[in-house]
Amino acid sequence: MMKWKGLQSVVILVLMLFLLAACGQDAGTSQEADTKVDSGDNADVGEKSEEKIKIGLSVSDLTLERWQHDRDFFVEKAEELGAEVIVQSANGDEAKQLSQIQNMLSQDIDVLVIIAINSDALSTVVEKAKSEGIPVLAYDRLVNGSDIDAYVSFDNVRVGEMQAEYLVEKVPTGKYFLMGGSPTDNNAKMFREGQMNIIQPLVDKGDITIVGDQWAKGWDANEALKIMENALTANKNDIDGIVASNDNTAGGAIQALDAQGLAGKVVISGQDADLAGVQRIAEGTQTMTVYKPIKAIAIKSAEVAVQLANGEAITSDSTVNNGKLDVPFIKLDPIKVGKENIIDTLIKDGFHSYDDVYKNVPENERPARP
Ligand code: BGC
Repeated sequence: MMKWKGLQSVVILVLMLFLLAACGQDAGTSQEADTKVDSGDNADVGEKSEEKIKIGLSVSDLTLERWQHDRDFFVEKAEELGAEVIVQSANGDEAKQLSQIQNMLSQDIDVLVIIAINSDALSTVVEKAKSEGIPVLAYDRLVNGSDIDAYVSFDNVRVGEMQAEYLVEKVPTGKYFLMGGSPTDNNAKMFREGQMNIIQPLVDKGDITIVGDQWAKGWDANEALKIMENALTANKNDIDGIVASNDNTAGGAIQALDAQGLAGKVVISGQDADLAGVQRIAEGTQTMTVYKPIKAIAIKSAEVAVQLANGEAITSDSTVNNGKLDVPFIKLDPIKVGKENIIDTLIKDGFHSYDDVYKNVPENERPARP
């Protein structure tokens, strides 16, 4: 038995040496045949399947439309780059996200990509990953207080500015309500910062009065609906504008407006270009959204994840401080979308189809088909 095994090993060794000598021109010059360094400079990653990079992608909540697009584009690109991806969604549950990440760390991943639910609650798992030599990439939402390697996102302050700019251009004076996103999401704070960059000077001038300011837990539409119902009651329906931080919360707020016969009469922002949000813009009940080309962030993140797994240096145009260090920040540009440019942005980009967007708009009121 022992002898047979020994013989097997010798045969395998000889075969391996033979193969090495046959395919690697410089194999003969080095004894360290098994160092896996070629992957970085080798563009044709499809050939190195025996050492496929394994990416762990922890998604905050796949029940929201936006993140399904992110997941699909990310996995497609990663696979094209020769990597495999383990995807887990915590569906908004913070504790679940922590245990899913622990679980991924035990599956021999080469890089961890996190879309955080709570930007402040991930330092333990991030430190664990780092202690095991696994680099960490924060996807779209920053992870605070820990040693992450990179952050790929949109210019989130600019997103908030775009939302407020669009509304105040239409309604420069009056009563505004601020509908923030999840209080545990660092992005929600960045959006608010951008919104206030535009609104605060108008408040100071006396043009705008802020009649309420609340944050919708978990970016939940029902939460936004309740918040808006209460705000309308408290203000006797006297509200001119709502700065909603995304389409999901805008949807909840618009439901509350609709119940009071106010949908389409109060300007309201959004974000994500969710199909439901864009349909509302086409129908006239939502004023604008911010389109963040998801394909761009997903592709960039997949590329950066593979670079990190290969131990390559990444390049970024700026940094952001996460309370522990200046993290390389790869910042992408958002795009303002109102009724006037749905076709030139979302439809031309293939993000939504003409038929889906104008489904509920009477034929004679639709813009020309591109
Ligand atoms: C994202 C938004 C999204 C929200 C809710 C934020 O962190 O930047 O695009 O609407 O989370 O999922």
